[in-house]
Amino acid sequence: MNSCRHYSHDVYHGVLCSGDGQSSKSAVLKQTRDSVTVDLSHSSRSTEADATTSGKRDLSIGLDGSFVLPAARVEELKEEFGINTDDLLRALITPASALARPPISSFHVGAAGIGGSGALYVGCNLEFAKLPLYNSVHAEQFLLVNALHHGETAIEKLAISAAPCGHCRQFFSELACADSIKFLFFGGSYSLGQLLPMRFKPTDLLDSKETPLLLQAQHHQVSFTEESKRQIQAWEDAGETKLVEAAFEALKECENAYSPYSGCPAGAAILTSDGGVYAGGYIESAAYNPSMLPLQSAIIDAVIDGMPCYSEMKAAILVEVDGGAVQHRNTMEINVSQIAPQASFYCLHVEKRTE
Ligand SMILES: [Zn+2]
Repeated sequence: MNSCRHYSHDVYHGVLCSGDGQSSKSAVLKQTRDSVTVDLSHSSRSTEADATTSGKRDLSIGLDGSFVLPAARVEELKEEFGINTDDLLRALITPASALARPPISSFHVGAAGIGGSGALYVGCNLEFAKLPLYNSVHAEQFLLVNALHHGETAIEKLAISAAPCGHCRQFFSELACADSIKFLFFGGSYSLGQLLPMRFKPTDLLDSKETPLLLQAQHHQVSFTEESKRQIQAWEDAGETKLVEAAFEALKECENAYSPYSGCPAGAAILTSDGGVYAGGYIESAAYNPSMLPLQSAIIDAVIDGMPCYSEMKAAILVEVDGGAVQHRNTMEINVSQIAPQASFYCLHVEKRTE
């Protein structure tokens, strides 16, 4: 979860798409900075007339690097600009897409969605140079993990800069609110049933209809194995308190992971060179392949707080079930070595409590 730190935008911008080591993305970076630095609190109302007299909204609403707007701020903006929720979401697509980190495609995707609490969540796509494409995070997935990390229990609607791909349509099928959520794109509003009719659903695979779905509370009863407890104690003895903190953040994510199909919850944490701790949990899909790996979920948490570059990663910790049918250890170790070769990788194990 977010650890209440925030990088400046200059730092954020300076190495935004680093990790690919390519200078050819400088034009994208420049464009990104210009878009991000629009100050939400100083947005002009001069565009309101244009917005209300034409079908196309061109509101000067920015995000200033924020990935979440509280419900009260959402209402303020709607009143300030005289717009409804749909228009606000659509107006935030461009600033959301400016937050993307796509070093492979340079194709920026943005999404803005409203949660059941009234808070607004932003998503953007992440690509990882030197890794297979299937490790990428789509903007809609980012938005969903963002909402999950902030304790949201439902998504009502989201606006997207492009039509959602089949992978994302399937991923959103994990939501308990899947039948009511609306996708706004290309000027229309669509239900998941329209976008992915006759889809494979969680209930097609789960034995019990009582199993909590994505964004609903998960409570895995797991504890560190004795061996992992000794590793954590060794860190404690060595004064590596941030590693200890990261280990317990990853444990918390493991306890709350969404893994109804494998029964193998997992969590990951990232420790940055200046002491930031970020974490995220594993999220499964009934169709398996659209699942979100724990490292990606933790990276989303770090990006939300503005981690400027993967070279900031000092360590990455995986917490997973000892001997589980699904194991992330080898994959995550390779991914960390490619994304952040300077970072140490640790795997801690948990076992299921029987009480
Ligand atoms: Zn997608």
